[in-house]
Amino acid sequence: MLACKKCMFLTEEEKCPLCSGELSKEWQGMLVIIDHTSSDIAEHMGIKANGRFALKVR
Ligand SMILES: [Zn+2]
Repeated sequence: MLACKKCMFLTEEEKCPLCSGELSKEWQGMLVIIDHTSSDIAEHMGIKANGRFALKVR
């Protein structure tokens, strides 16, 4: 699984499906957002989609 360097979204695709950003193999920690509209963490991190996100991307 790869993480987007821009929005931290975790994906198995070749490009980030959210922002078309560059992906990285070097990431740590996973955050699962089920409903970003009612998640304080999602709001804090500026996440505007549901899915899996990395906490740290190099
Ligand atoms: Zn992205």
